[in-house]
Amino acid sequence: MKLKSIEIAGFKSFADKTTIDFQDGLTGIVGPNGSGKSNVIEAIRWVLGEQSAKTLRGKKMLDVIFSGSKGRRALNRAEVSIDFDNSDHFLDSDFTEIKITRKVYRNGESSYSINDKECRLKDINNLFMDTGLGEGSLSIISQGNVDEILNDNAEKRRSIIETAAGVYRYKKQKNETEQKLADTQGNLDRISDIINELD
Ligand code: ATP
Repeated sequence: MKLKSIEIAGFKSFADKTTIDFQDGLTGIVGPNGSGKSNVIEAIRWVLGEQSAKTLRGKKMLDVIFSGSKGRRALNRAEVSIDFDNSDHFLDSDFTEIKITRKVYRNGESSYSINDKECRLKDINNLFMDTGLGEGSLSIISQGNVDEILNDNAEKRRSIIETAAGVYRYKKQKNETEQKLADTQGNLDRISDIINELD
């Protein structure tokens, strides 16, 4: 799987539609302070489902929409699309190209889509779970992240290591299965009570 391109429109400092194509090898983004380098990384985080405004250096989620500049009015919509080459089917999908899109409007409406088909955030999370990408992924280390990880408590650090090792998916499935077993046991107990009453 390879990140092919990102298209950003109305997101933070990117008022106009901007497309960045990632070539093979290493890509560096350079520019003066405040020119929007970190905003590109935040656009990647956002389109992959980031839910924390704080992580995106905002107070609320709508802060990602272009808020205007000298001679340019604020916009009503932010939209980011990211394209992956999935010809190796690293992402669990039959598609060889996968485009993820996220949109948000000033009235609070928002949507996600995979290959232009509207979907739930859960579908995006499932697609990227344990791939090293996706919400809260460790493949993006922002300024200050390293200090944060070092200062975290042992439990938080353990969950970071479990996510990196791919154990998290199984832990989550185990918890869900245990919950189902407990529910089923509850139902069995209730049936057994009813049978006893009838006897
Ligand atoms: P540095 O090198 O200092 O880290 P940078 O190139 O990473 O800077 P960013 O932090 O990505 O720059 O961009 C900051 C710019 O984005 C600021 O000029 C800020 O005003 C602008 N910006 C952030 N959010 C919005 C928004 N919602 N609407 C318009 N501009 C925004």
